[in-house]
Amino acid sequence: MIKKKKISKEERIIERRKELAKNGQVAAIWTRVSSADQYKTNCSIETQLDGCYNYCNRNNIKVKHEFGGENESAKEAGDLFLEMIGEVLNDPEYNTIIVYDFDRFSRNSDDGIYYKTKVKKNGINVISVNQPIDANNILASQLENFLIILADIDNAMRRHKCYNGMVGCINRGEWFSKPPIGYDTKKVDKHHVITVNERGKILKRAFEWMANEPSISQFEIQRRLKAQGLDIPKQTLSSCLHNSFYCGRLEHQYLNTDTPNVKYDRYGNPYIMGVQEPLISEELFEKVQDVLDGNRNHYEQAIETPKFPLKKHLYCAKDYRLLTGYTTKGKDYYKCGLIGCKTNISADFVHSQFKEILDRYIIPSEISTIFAKVLERKFQEKEGADVEAARNIKKKLETLKTKLKTVNRRYALDEIGKDVYDDVKKDLLMEINATEHELRQSKAKLSNLSKYVNNSIAIASKLGSYWSKMDYKLCQMIQKLAFPQGILWDGERKALRTDGENIFLAEIARLQSINPNEGIKKQDTSSDVSCLVAGGGFEPPTSGL
Ligand SMILES: [Zn+2]
Repeated sequence: MIKKKKISKEERIIERRKELAKNGQVAAIWTRVSSADQYKTNCSIETQLDGCYNYCNRNNIKVKHEFGGENESAKEAGDLFLEMIGEVLNDPEYNTIIVYDFDRFSRNSDDGIYYKTKVKKNGINVISVNQPIDANNILASQLENFLIILADIDNAMRRHKCYNGMVGCINRGEWFSKPPIGYDTKKVDKHHVITVNERGKILKRAFEWMANEPSISQFEIQRRLKAQGLDIPKQTLSSCLHNSFYCGRLEHQYLNTDTPNVKYDRYGNPYIMGVQEPLISEELFEKVQDVLDGNRNHYEQAIETPKFPLKKHLYCAKDYRLLTGYTTKGKDYYKCGLIGCKTNISADFVHSQFKEILDRYIIPSEISTIFAKVLERKFQEKEGADVEAARNIKKKLETLKTKLKTVNRRYALDEIGKDVYDDVKKDLLMEINATEHELRQSKAKLSNLSKYVNNSIAIASKLGSYWSKMDYKLCQMIQKLAFPQGILWDGERKALRTDGENIFLAEIARLQSINPNEGIKKQDTSSDVSCLVAGGGFEPPTSGL
């Protein structure tokens, strides 16, 4: 009996699609509006549909169905999107998906690239009306990926913009959200004033007990606190004891580490001195940390030296153990932490190899013009959004001031009593102050975005040289950005392995490896979607703003 080779349903559809495609292009139109688009003028569903239909008419593409057309979360591929992908994949008549703009396809570059690659494998092209790309161009698919990533960068920028007010607060040393146990917070003249309360005074003793009686258990501390009237769960107590806020420090992801008043704690985390009332001295806090560290028995706690910037980031490819640094006869080496594993390598050699890898991340000149153009357009959109935002804030401020006038008048006319008047007035004044603050922030940010874009590109293109400066902090940042999962040293092949690199950088490196004269890909990894999915999103450095 002859065994017939089974072909899957998916393969049958692809075959059929190839057949049908000979009759011409058949498209699904995909539109969406995300909540982040509310400021944008030019991306209503109608505008998108118009643009898509025009494009199809001009290019003789038959439209079979429209999908989307509703608000959809920007964060992940929403249900509507997946529904569309599913239907298009299952219907062999479709060979094209039309979107108005690549940032309409998906706002998340991992998803965007993943699904674009997936449908492409099934014989379906994604076409953006606003970024028509010659499909015969060898760089076409990479370019499209770039555009999708740009939408992601764009998303990060938006997120960042929303938080400008908070960034401002933190960098002035003001904690804007709920303070930890033991503190009260109120707003006085636009400032967050945080003071120690009665519970705080009790909690202070916990630090003192720990410093003076290093062998005391947290359970015992908890018991004593409770006896004095402060009942807190063990988890909370533990996080209090670790929280440097109590000694007057402020740690926050929005801290701008470029300013001179930034210091670093024993773990290399940046902080500044906040304006909150300290509960305990820094000295006492450090003492408590010593005790806590001792309890945890941290053998790898030794402070990193710039001699071994790859420490904690470089793994043995044989057994996935972290390599540790050591010096002998004046020379530096990394070696595997596993007893019996002989992996051992000169630090200079690994460092030069690592720099070479980073040096691949240079945006090729063929791409940089297109890249710059798209960024410019994004930038102009952003400016528009900022102007719009400032206008809205101004409007809100006027409304508040009118309300205040009304209240004053009604009080003067004896229509409301003093209690009500005082309350309402206080609330209104607070809101007016906050709004004025917001307005100043939004104006200040209007002209900074081009710098931001340029910085992002410049930094991405010069990682190798930044890294060779051997500033420990900078090295760590670059390593984490480029290889979020760490890198491997393959002792047998005497080479570094870099699995799971940042997708944005991976794209740049891939474009670099294409020889434009030959027009042939030296290394085709486009089918390897998994590496694209694995990496984190490219978050532009905040120091640009
Ligand atoms: Zn090993």
